[in-house]
Amino acid sequence: MNQLTNKTFRKAAHELVDWMADYIENVEQYPVKSQVKPKEIYNQIPENPPTESEEVAAIFEDFKNIILPGITHWQSPNFYAYFPANSSYPSLLAEMLMSTLAAQCMIWDTSPAAAELEEKTMNWLKQMMTLPNDWQGVIQDTASTASLAALLTAREKLSDYQVNQEGFENTPKYRVYCSTQTHSSIDKAVKIAGLGIENLVKIAVNDDCTINVKALETAIQDDIKNGFQPLFVMLALGTTSTIAIDNVRPVGEICQKYNIWLHLDAAYAGSALILPEYRDMIDGIELADSFVFNPHKWLFTNFDCSAYFVKDADALIHTFSVLPEYLKTKTRGQVNDYRDWGIPLGRRFRALKLWFVIRNFGVEGLREKLRFHIDLAKAFEAKVVENTNFETVYPRSLNGVFFRFKPEGIEDLDTLNQLNEKLLLLLNESGKMYLSHTKINGVYFIRIIIAQTNVTREHIDNTWLEICRVAESLG
Ligand code: PLP
Repeated sequence: MNQLTNKTFRKAAHELVDWMADYIENVEQYPVKSQVKPKEIYNQIPENPPTESEEVAAIFEDFKNIILPGITHWQSPNFYAYFPANSSYPSLLAEMLMSTLAAQCMIWDTSPAAAELEEKTMNWLKQMMTLPNDWQGVIQDTASTASLAALLTAREKLSDYQVNQEGFENTPKYRVYCSTQTHSSIDKAVKIAGLGIENLVKIAVNDDCTINVKALETAIQDDIKNGFQPLFVMLALGTTSTIAIDNVRPVGEICQKYNIWLHLDAAYAGSALILPEYRDMIDGIELADSFVFNPHKWLFTNFDCSAYFVKDADALIHTFSVLPEYLKTKTRGQVNDYRDWGIPLGRRFRALKLWFVIRNFGVEGLREKLRFHIDLAKAFEAKVVENTNFETVYPRSLNGVFFRFKPEGIEDLDTLNQLNEKLLLLLNESGKMYLSHTKINGVYFIRIIIAQTNVTREHIDNTWLEICRVAESLG
């Protein structure tokens, strides 16, 4: 009999926990970026599902032999690509408990502790980050979902909930604004919200990649003149390409003047708000309507966990709430039923991992890690600046450095772009690190985000030496 029983589950689970601890200890032995070719994994998996029960030991062997080679090791300290999806020991433990309870926490009644811990941990985050005290927080799966929720709420609030009721027939043409550097989740949200992608106005950026505030106001005024209705502005507190931080206060003042919802997308950089020295980033937040950041990026909480805060929680609830008979409870109105605070009905118990992380690190422990990452990025930046064959393309922001290989004597843009593309490919193919790139104004450059939970100074020193060695081999 291969199907697990409580007894055999216990044994298998102990073995897996040992494997998990070994994996974390030895993660650097794997190539950081998976080296497989398309369909290599797919073709190793049988066409047909098994008719008979298979032993867990056999499944686990296949996991090691077939699946693992197709995994990119996001928890490797040499993972510097995109933004991280960090994990940590306390977060992992909480994930194990969550999986064991397997509670579906759609309403307070279906697990009061999940709802109440969510409310409390969101309040803790609010305190830790000095977000406005009267805002309310809710955990969403991703920042994309939170920004969509913000846009839908703005649409409903401005239309007096008429779009939900009647559709768009009697509404003006709404307009949404963001900079050319804002994350593409806003494009998706505008499409889903039924506003039409042509009504997403992308505003030019300044040299530092922050939104040009004057151009934003001009675009809003032009739209009003042309009969459009400005609805929503999304600012980036940390753009994806270069972690540029838009200026909240002047945009907040514009949004107040024209009655526009202001949403702050701090998906990555928001974590830095636990550091008092970075609080300037939200100067003017009282003029905004909503804010999102991802503890699953740079706060050591397993993906997925996105913290969304909103000034007018009633508007959020009014936008999303529906009440079929089977979900009616006696506690409604006295408690938070988070199914009303976003898109899905079903909800995981995500607050548990946040609770484990905040308690086990302590706020000071979290601060220490973040400051260490920023220090490592400063050290890396200094190495780039010192080397005459490299240059920083944009200034370091927090723990991100944006650089390219620029051997002395080579000025041609296409040649430099190709050279850097080649360099990145070789570095990532080596399996020793994983970096990613971006392109702004035609310039291709490499991003290094130093944020992995267990990264050390030695990793950064070795990474830099390897980058120099491979670059030299390219001449
Ligand atoms: N906003 C910014 C600035 C991002 O960099 C990203 C992803 O990296 C997102 C939003 C989307 O995040 P999520 O995957 O949580 O939807």
